[in-house]
Amino acid sequence: MTAVHHSHDRDGATIAAIATPPGPGGIGIIRISGPEAKAILTRLFRPLKARPTVSHQLTYGWLIDPANERTLDEVMAVFMAASHSYTCEDVVEIQCHSSYLVLQEILAVVLKHGAVLAEPGEFTKRAFLNGRIDLTQAEAVVELLQAKTGEGLQIALSQLQGSLHDQIGTIRDGLVAIRAVIEVAIDFPDEDLEIINPKEMLNNLHLNVISPLGELIADAERGKIFREGISVVIMGRPNVGKSSLLNSLLQEDRAIVTEIPGTTRDIIEEYLNIKGIPVRIIDTAGIRENAEAVEEIGIKKARQKQESADLVLMVVDSAMELSEEDHALAASINNQHVILVLNKTDLVPGKDLQPYRDAFPKFTPVEISAKEHQGLAGLEEAIFSKVSDSSDHWDPGHTAVPNVRHTNSLVGALAASRQLAEALQENLPPDLVAIEVQSALDHLSDIIGETTTEDVLDMIFTRFCLGK
Ligand code: GDP
Repeated sequence: MTAVHHSHDRDGATIAAIATPPGPGGIGIIRISGPEAKAILTRLFRPLKARPTVSHQLTYGWLIDPANERTLDEVMAVFMAASHSYTCEDVVEIQCHSSYLVLQEILAVVLKHGAVLAEPGEFTKRAFLNGRIDLTQAEAVVELLQAKTGEGLQIALSQLQGSLHDQIGTIRDGLVAIRAVIEVAIDFPDEDLEIINPKEMLNNLHLNVISPLGELIADAERGKIFREGISVVIMGRPNVGKSSLLNSLLQEDRAIVTEIPGTTRDIIEEYLNIKGIPVRIIDTAGIRENAEAVEEIGIKKARQKQESADLVLMVVDSAMELSEEDHALAASINNQHVILVLNKTDLVPGKDLQPYRDAFPKFTPVEISAKEHQGLAGLEEAIFSKVSDSSDHWDPGHTAVPNVRHTNSLVGALAASRQLAEALQENLPPDLVAIEVQSALDHLSDIIGETTTEDVLDMIFTRFCLGK
């Protein structure tokens, strides 16, 4: 693949960055890429045994500041020749002790000796620009770093290995074969009808292009929840057990991260892993109709959260009669997916809860005791099946899952292919048919990054962290 994009003035520069996260740790890595990489290493590195630098061979020694011969750290250094490196340029990695000071000092000396500070994602961007990976694989690197569940990770790894790239390639081959025939027809206008066999071409178009495009778009829809996750809002009047529910869900599953710590008046967000789906769960502790002034802001925020959530858990206290407040709250929910959580069932064993279900016939009922950790598996099952329709027989590690950007282009390619089918059906002149073929091909080129514009590329690569 030939790269068509260039990041202007930085072309040819040697870049460097700290590649490991900040903070004390076992090993910290400084990464350098570009034509000067090896020369910089030679200037700063004093190997224990002087011998020529061999590509991909880790060497022990000391890193020094040549200005004053001061020792910076005890390190292992490796040079990776452009032919087999992450960026397709000469790369040097220096492994030192992961002390913020050491890393900063080494980086400063590296920058003084001919490197410029790398931008976020620039190493991977170079791997893409130099043609080692396509854009879908570069995007997979970010996704791999940010994956929140095992399933999300599988999707990223499969994409990094080229699953999407390969499928797009196969569809492109189908279009290119059609284009080849049409080009011959354009060159021999008198015989175009004999050259183009519309029936056969339509068959091939459906088989090799239109139906695989449709499948990829369907996979995108199916995989979306694993990749992007869902948001769930917990609602209910005070004391029905919202916070208890959140806590017991967090205990049940490993919480992924705690994002915003808050008081009970505030909105609390936590991340859960429910059957592979990253779930952002939001406890709107303060929500109620007759709010005190201090709660106003909290309530407004809660309403916004509810409206944009993928799913609402409406919690009621099954040990108490339903109140007007419960009904008012339920009436205010205009979300498509709502689960009615009948909590505190431990307080009323054997009680007939049918009247509670009947009160809110549109909501899916689940009985739990947040306090006794009962019914949580059933609740998770209900959450999963509400948001994931047909994902059961779906293997994220073996399916390409297009993201939003890919899907937009796939939809464009599908529309163009359908136009193409019409053009063939109507026996339009080959030069008009060729326009549709090219349009479909252009959409596919966008996905793998052959024709992607600079601003789209920037958007993708700025999502990376420094040093990647
Ligand atoms: P919130 O205001 O809706 O967040 O309600 P909390 O989670 O703070 O719970 C209010 C009270 O109900 C607390 O005293 C909880 O211990 C209690 N509670 C919550 N869930 C249960 C439950 O399933 N069973 C019982 N017996 N008590 C519960």
